[in-house]
Amino acid sequence: MEMTSAAPERLRAAGLRVTVQRVAVLEALTARPHASAETVYSRLRGDLSGVALPTVHGILNDLTGAGIVRRVSLPDAASALYEVQDDFDNHHHLQCVECGRVEDVACAVGEAPCLHPSHDHGMRILEATVTYRAICSDCERKK
Ligand SMILES: [Zn+2]
Ligand SMILES: [Zn+2]
Ligand SMILES: [Zn+2]
Repeated sequence: MEMTSAAPERLRAAGLRVTVQRVAVLEALTARPHASAETVYSRLRGDLSGVALPTVHGILNDLTGAGIVRRVSLPDAASALYEVQDDFDNHHHLQCVECGRVEDVACAVGEAPCLHPSHDHGMRILEATVTYRAICSDCERKK
């Protein structure tokens, strides 16, 4: 596989060793974000023979730990979804409760933590995770 994308550069900048498999995972997430480990695995199987699901899980953990990838837990997704994390990016998610389709939406407020609780119990608020639960037009039509 040719390494021509920005992925090797991002790995290096985060202090991670550049491997073909890490680059492939990062590229797969860049092309189509909000993918589960299983989805990434099934996309890689075609062009990266020999990659195992536990390896994909391990790579996603490494990338998440290094801050390149963000783990997104959404109420209507069976497993955690992953997307490439950009600095200063504070977007939220719109999710179809029927088919699970996920779209990014810009934060209406502009900066974290977006919402402030009436009482913080002495904790410093880092972020509010906002998920808009919705029904997409395709699923609406099928009803
Ligand atoms: Zn839908
Ligand atoms: Zn997103
Ligand atoms: Zn917000």
